Amino acid sequence: MPVEGDEWMKGKVIVDQERCKECSLCILACPHDVLRISKEINFKGYHPVEVYAPEKCTGCTLCAVICPDLALIIKRQKPERK
Ligand code: SF4
Ligand code: SF4
Repeated sequence: MPVEGDEWMKGKVIVDQERCKECSLCILACPHDVLRISKEINFKGYHPVEVYAPEKCTGCTLCAVICPDLALIIKRQKPERK
């Protein structure tokens, strides 16, 4: 947990929806419910993951590490010091 005066690391998750095969491993791995299955259908015929709550992403990379299809890229940004 962040201490007073500190903030969560900010992250941004980018989904390559054409690589996704709807296995949901990333959704299960994310501790902040950032991801969900979309209503879209990709080239492979799967419903790919989409970013549902981007503001909650801490950039922890758990989703990207567990994805067997390398469909997720994480960008991390340090919080600004006040
Ligand atoms: S980087 Fe972490 S917080 Fe962000 S979507 Fe992936 S698992 Fe969730
Ligand atoms: S782990 Fe990868 S392939 Fe599986 S649902 Fe998530 S993004 Fe798609």
